[in-house]
Amino acid sequence: MKSRALVLNKFNEPLDLKEISIPLLNEGEILVKMEAAGICGSDVHMWKGEDERTPLPIILGHEGVGRIVDINGQKESINGEPLHEGSLITWNRGLCCGACFYCAVLHEPSLCDNRKIYGINMGINEGSALNGCYSEYIILRNHTHIFNIDEGVDPAVLVSASCSGATIAHAFDMVKVNPGDTVVIQGPGPLGVYAVAFAKSMGASNIIVIGGSEDRLKICTKFGANKILNRHTIMEEQRRDIIFQITHGHGADLVIEAAGVLGAAEEGIKLIRKGGTYITAGYAQPAGVERIDFYRYVVKNNITVKGVWASDTRHTYQALALVKKNQKLFSEMITHRFNLEQGNEAIWVMNNKTALKAVFTF
Ligand code: ZN
Ligand code: ZN
Repeated sequence: MKSRALVLNKFNEPLDLKEISIPLLNEGEILVKMEAAGICGSDVHMWKGEDERTPLPIILGHEGVGRIVDINGQKESINGEPLHEGSLITWNRGLCCGACFYCAVLHEPSLCDNRKIYGINMGINEGSALNGCYSEYIILRNHTHIFNIDEGVDPAVLVSASCSGATIAHAFDMVKVNPGDTVVIQGPGPLGVYAVAFAKSMGASNIIVIGGSEDRLKICTKFGANKILNRHTIMEEQRRDIIFQITHGHGADLVIEAAGVLGAAEEGIKLIRKGGTYITAGYAQPAGVERIDFYRYVVKNNITVKGVWASDTRHTYQALALVKKNQKLFSEMITHRFNLEQGNEAIWVMNNKTALKAVFTF
């Protein structure tokens, strides 16, 4: 049996649709036929060679939903349900060692020294070769945390929960949002949309989104943002004035960076009230050095600055729960659907930001 898969052989060159032999499963491994795979902003950075973790050649794709074809051994979902042939599943994209200092002592699996991530740092020269979601089949290793999905749910709607959704769930796991709070979100991409949805579900009173794409900002409004600030028409100083006006001169309780572009942190830090929090999740690859006056905007204002790196199984669980409850809304996030033959087009619409979220369906 073979699997057709899109392989990245060289950075910045078209993905190559190849046939790869499906090997026999090792103990605890699961062969999954993909139903949907998300094209993530990180994939575009990896394709360009901007993510230092990328081994070549590689099958990209770390967001997936699929159906079990074969299991070597007995496996259960994270909820203890037995998994079998035909089960519709998704999984935590990362695999942690459980034995390093960060896993075993700090209980921070997303910081694991030995974390393996499907489609990110597992190339085709490793293990089964089928380590990414841009493929008809993927082989999930033993100890992958698996979630059962109810029939009737559109798999395409769920894929982003395993990456951007989980990362934002991680952010909201680190901070508390109270009714009455003003949350400012920088960046209306998938991370930003999830930030709006989580802020709303946690009771934030004002949700303000700053972004450059009117279409993406409009989607944020549908998810519950009550103010959108287009940075092409409203300049930085004006944005700051508007946010301080809304918050009676205090500034935002929480600012979430979900943009990943140079200058976002420099602006964001200035939008926070005394004692507030800046949480940054968008810089998933190097973006340059921010210029921040720490005395004026951080120390003097008692501000907490937190970074969010990736996510853990609990965050995937939380994001999936949010999407399942709001399926119709999250389906609006998916602007483009492709098949594997259209792989390069799919990367392109994410690169030029014409898509909010693109997915492969099979
Ligand atoms: Zn991702
Ligand atoms: Zn570890």
